Amino acid sequence: MNAPAPLSCPRCSAPVEGPGLQSCPRCQRRFALYVGAALDPSLSVSPIGPKLQVKSPGLFLMRYGVLDERGIAEGNLDPIIGRLPIDTQGVAWHDIASIAVHRAPAWADLIVAMLIPLPIALGLGVLAIEAPFAAVFAAIFAAFAGLLIWRGHGVQACRARIIGRYRTIDVRFDRPFWRRQQFHDELVRRAGGSPGPMP
Ligand SMILES: [Zn+2]
Repeated sequence: MNAPAPLSCPRCSAPVEGPGLQSCPRCQRRFALYVGAALDPSLSVSPIGPKLQVKSPGLFLMRYGVLDERGIAEGNLDPIIGRLPIDTQGVAWHDIASIAVHRAPAWADLIVAMLIPLPIALGLGVLAIEAPFAAVFAAIFAAFAGLLIWRGHGVQACRARIIGRYRTIDVRFDRPFWRRQQFHDELVRRAGGSPGPMP
């Protein structure tokens, strides 16, 4: 896979003219693009700040993202207690060429909704024609499916594509939701930029 250009859309990699909050000319995805010190040496990184960790559900394992003095990193958490990082890759603050923040459907939630509660709700709905009490359970499962779909498609996952000198990483920062804004602002600030609104 070719590395995407620092000034490009985080979804389709179409080249864009410069940083800022914008919509991709090709795929219409809205995103905020920031330049880092590896692209603009006049920026001064400020790595100091509290260590911030966020999580998001992957298909099989919880994924995590972390900001610390060294840079930004992401990886999977162990499957047993879901707290210990089992793999990590990161980009150091002064190696960041660009940061692109965007939102994307949370596919894991959507897939779970399609596979489990939705078919159960439909099955119970059919059963309710013969046995009316089944309608209560059908409604419960339908509500659960609706919640997952709302979470996956309505709220959407917050993602940041970090293009570094040596590698590109994709960090999701969904949970806890009250840390999203702080994670976003600290990421941009420590990389030397001034945070604008989240897309
Ligand atoms: Zn695009």
